[in-house]
Amino acid sequence: MAIERVAVIGAGTMGAGIAQVCAQAGWTTRLYDAFPEGLERGMQRIDAFWDKGIARGKTTAEEKAQWSSNLEAVSDLEKAVSDADLVIEAVPEIPDLKHSIFSQLDTLAPSHCVLGTNTSSLSIADIAAATSRPERVIGMHFFNPVPIMKLLELVRHDSTSNATIALAQEAGNAMGKTTILVKDIPGFATSRLGVVLGNEAIRMLADGVASAKDIDTAMVLGYKHPMGPLALTDLVGLDVRRDILKNLQASFDDDAYAPHPLLERLVAEGRLGKKTGKGIYDWSSGEAKETSLD
Ligand code: NAD
Repeated sequence: MAIERVAVIGAGTMGAGIAQVCAQAGWTTRLYDAFPEGLERGMQRIDAFWDKGIARGKTTAEEKAQWSSNLEAVSDLEKAVSDADLVIEAVPEIPDLKHSIFSQLDTLAPSHCVLGTNTSSLSIADIAAATSRPERVIGMHFFNPVPIMKLLELVRHDSTSNATIALAQEAGNAMGKTTILVKDIPGFATSRLGVVLGNEAIRMLADGVASAKDIDTAMVLGYKHPMGPLALTDLVGLDVRRDILKNLQASFDDDAYAPHPLLERLVAEGRLGKKTGKGIYDWSSGEAKETSLD
């Protein structure tokens, strides 16, 4: 089935980026948010991204005009989804909220419409259970910033149909993404590997194997990672990574995922990474500077 109309639910960091790449893919795109200021902020963010592209010579004014004409801010959920072929949800990571949105989407969206969720950690099967069309529900896990990051992690639960997977793959390709297909398992593929690497790097730091910079440089130069696991932990947020590890530890009943005590201590001290100015590194100058962990 060809996609013509897409709705994006939630106009925050991820939803705005997803709506942007949908508009750029040429689809009629409706961006919905429950809060007027959230919707306005999302639309402004998209506009600013396109303007920056024009200033840098990466986008033309004609392209922006075309993309803008594909995009509409909508403050009524029914209007946003009533003729959509694909809906992508990007509201906050609160299970009850996602379940309630999917139950409404099931009532308001046409029966052929595929419902995607950008959840980074919740069970797709649980979200699908809020609908009468679990075979049309799939995880569509984008990465921040959406217009730049090439990966789209598709997560299929046991009842996701092959037609739904094919449509999500086709959508991902049209948005310029490379898709991977992963089972509905806590941590999917990306978060599970990412947090384990970060946790092990923190263990090595605590054990005095090398300095933070040298551990990061090992992976950047030795393994061609664009960024070291400790700097990345600071960017994502130590609290976010600690919570994912705890979730994996409980889900798999496996202490291999237990957050290292140093990670727990830094979180307890409010050293959450770049967003608080200090995590494993000191970011007060805007750059990652080695600092005492005592
Ligand atoms: P955000 O807080 O930036 O945006 C959420 C938006 O949803 C806000 O604009 C808010 O007004 C809106 N909202 C709240 N309740 C709503 C409702 N009932 N109906 C419609 N809109 C509502 O959050 P985010 O960072 O964009 O995250 C959204 C989802 O994407 C979460 O599931 C998160 O786990 C996932 N995710 C986030 C990232 C990231 O790096 N931020 C990466 C991958 C996946």
